[in-house]
Amino acid sequence: MTKNIILRTITQESDYDPNSMPVEKARTYIGGFLEPVSSSECVSIRDALGRVLSEDVISPVNVPQHDNSAMDGYAVKGADLTEGKKTDLNVIGTAFAGQPFDGIMRNGESVRIMTGAVVPDGADTVIMQERTEKKTENVVSVDFFPAGANTRKAGEDLKLGSAALQTGHKVRPADLGLIASLGISEVKVYRKLRVAFFSTGDELVGVGTALGDGQIYDSNRYTIFGMLTELGCEIIDMGVIKDTPDAVENAFIESANISDVVITSGGVSVGEADFVKPILNKLGEVLFWKIAMKPGRPLAFGKVGRSHFFGLPGNPVAVMVTFYQFVQSALKTLQGQVTRLPSPTFKARCTEPLKKAPGRTEFQRGILSRAADNEWTVKPTGDQGSGILSSMSQAHCFIVLPTDIGKVKAGEFVDVQLIRGLVDS
Ligand code: AMP
Ligand code: MG
Repeated sequence: MTKNIILRTITQESDYDPNSMPVEKARTYIGGFLEPVSSSECVSIRDALGRVLSEDVISPVNVPQHDNSAMDGYAVKGADLTEGKKTDLNVIGTAFAGQPFDGIMRNGESVRIMTGAVVPDGADTVIMQERTEKKTENVVSVDFFPAGANTRKAGEDLKLGSAALQTGHKVRPADLGLIASLGISEVKVYRKLRVAFFSTGDELVGVGTALGDGQIYDSNRYTIFGMLTELGCEIIDMGVIKDTPDAVENAFIESANISDVVITSGGVSVGEADFVKPILNKLGEVLFWKIAMKPGRPLAFGKVGRSHFFGLPGNPVAVMVTFYQFVQSALKTLQGQVTRLPSPTFKARCTEPLKKAPGRTEFQRGILSRAADNEWTVKPTGDQGSGILSSMSQAHCFIVLPTDIGKVKAGEFVDVQLIRGLVDS
C-alpha cells in the first residue's frame, strides 16, 4: 500500500466527518483497507480447528463411496414390486455394514440388509423390517415401496473431485469430521495472524504491584489478551507504555516491526491524541475518529509501518465494545476468512426503561432471561458508565439502540446481540 492511500481515499469522501463517524461507515472504511495474510502452512486435522483454509479441500472419493441402506430390512429390485400389493421374494443372503453381500441379486430375489451396508449388485431399493413378513426360512413377503426408497446414494454427501470446503473457510468441529470422512490427514491453512498490543497511560500499573497514589491496574491488556486468544491470533503483549513521546514512538516502531496488527488502548482521546498524532503521522497513516456511539467514541485506524493499526479508547468497556464492533470482524478478514454472517441480533422485550440520546448508536449491556411464555426479556446491567467493567462480566448481550431512537419505555422490544455469539459468528 503506498503512503497516504488510506488518508487520501477516505478523507476525500464528500460526507466524511471525523468528528461524528457513524458506526456502519467506520466499519465500511476499515473493511476497504485490510490486507489478509497470504502465507500458509500444512497442519494435521485436529490442529486445523479454528484456522482458515488457504486451499480448497477437494474430495478424493465419493461420500458415501457406495449406495447403502438407510434401514434394517431387505434389499430388493424396485421393478419386482407392484403398487398396492405384497410381493414374495427368495432370500439369498445377508449384507452387514462393513461386510457386503458379494453375489448378484436376480429377479424375484432379495438380501437381508442392515443399516449402512452396501446395497448389493442388482438391488436398488430397501424395504424396512417393519414392512416385511418372513414366510419361510428363505422366503419374505414385502410391501410396495417406490424404486430407490430407503437407500443413500453414492456421492450424495460429497462428490469425487468437488470442493468439500473452500478457501477462506474457518474450520469448525463439523469440518474436522468432514475432512476425516474424506480420509485426508492434513490441510493447508493461513499462518496465524500476529497481533501486538500495548496499553498507554502513566496511571497504569501491572498486577502484582501495590497501587500508588492515583494509580490503577491495567485491565485492558487482559481483556484484549482474552479476545485475541479466542480468535486464534498469535499474540505479542508489549506491556504498559508511559505517556511520553519517546516511549510511545518506540513502542509503535517495535510493535509494527514484529506484527501484522498493532492494537493499543488509551491515548487517543483529544488531549493525548494531540501528542500521539504527529508520531503516528510520521510512522504511517492513521485517521482519528469520534464515532457516533456510546461507549467507544474515540477510535484510530490506519497503518503503522506495514502493520494495520487500531487505537482503541482507554475506558475498559469502550475497549471491549470497539473491539467487538470493529476490530473482531477486521481481524477475521485479515486471518483470511472469506464468508461469514454479520453478528446476528434478535428482539427481546426490555423490562426496564432505558436512557438514550438520539444521534448515536448505543451498546448497553444486558442480562437476558426467558419468561414463562417463552418470550426473551432483557434488562440493563445497571450503571452503563464506560469504566464499569463488571457490566461486561454480568452481561449476556449488547442491547443495540440505533442512532435515531431516543429513550426506551419498559415493555418495548429492543435488538440484542449475544456477546458469545459475536465470537462464534
Ligand atoms: P484515555 O483514553 O487514555 O484518556 O483513558 C480513558 C480512561 O480509561 C481513563 O480513566 C484511564 O485511566 C482508563 N484506562 C486507560 N487505559 C486503561 C487500562 N489499560 N486499564 C484500565 N483502565 C484504563
Ligand atoms: Mg491515557
